[in-house]
Amino acid sequence: MPVKNMTKKQIQVFFERLREQRPNPKTELNYSSPFELLVAVTLSAQATDVSVNKATDKLFPIANTPEAIYALGVDGLKQYIKTIGLYNAKAENVIKACKILIDKHNSIVPNNRTDLEALPGVGRKTANVVLNTAFGQATMAVDTHIFRLGNRTGLAVGKNVIEVEQRLLKVIPKEFMLDAHHWLILHGRYCCIARKPKCNECVVSDVCQWPDRFEFGAAKSIPVKMLQDQN
Ligand code: SF4
Repeated sequence: MPVKNMTKKQIQVFFERLREQRPNPKTELNYSSPFELLVAVTLSAQATDVSVNKATDKLFPIANTPEAIYALGVDGLKQYIKTIGLYNAKAENVIKACKILIDKHNSIVPNNRTDLEALPGVGRKTANVVLNTAFGQATMAVDTHIFRLGNRTGLAVGKNVIEVEQRLLKVIPKEFMLDAHHWLILHGRYCCIARKPKCNECVVSDVCQWPDRFEFGAAKSIPVKMLQDQN
């Protein structure tokens, strides 16, 4: 059965609940500057935040500027990140990105998409995370969790990440936009997980449109307040 799109009212309730649950959502990557965030997000492609934090907790006290990481060289950097998947390619990309930051950007992480995406290893998703988390811009980085969540719940149905990203940017009320990325990722990571979503303990199960949610324990009765809200 195709998933119905959530209504405007349901989307409002959806984000109010996520905000209530996590008033101050944050990335789970450890960082203390835009540059550290850029490196951490680049390293996190197809790797867990926990594995990235383990590596950067050792790397950043030694080298946390473009100059310092560039000085490590590819082989030196690999020593710190070799527990992370795809570390060979990631080390090459980070060193090349450091060189560009030093040569073209005065060692400062640019706050615009064009310059960010011109850095090796930085795609649209990484640029969106940096723009949102380091620079407070209302962007939406669609990762595997957000793609699944958008399509499953009816919040933002789309065939590919760009479609889901554009739909999310269109339907999310302005007041939630800055934190929406983190709420969605954390909800997808800990509750609306891929194989066995925890619909029985989900705070948005009454506005979620996924037809199978009842098989995973979503309550069938809708609280009176919700009925009023939906009218
Ligand atoms: S009810 Fe289930 S499918 Fe819907 S958002 Fe919650 S966890 Fe995900």
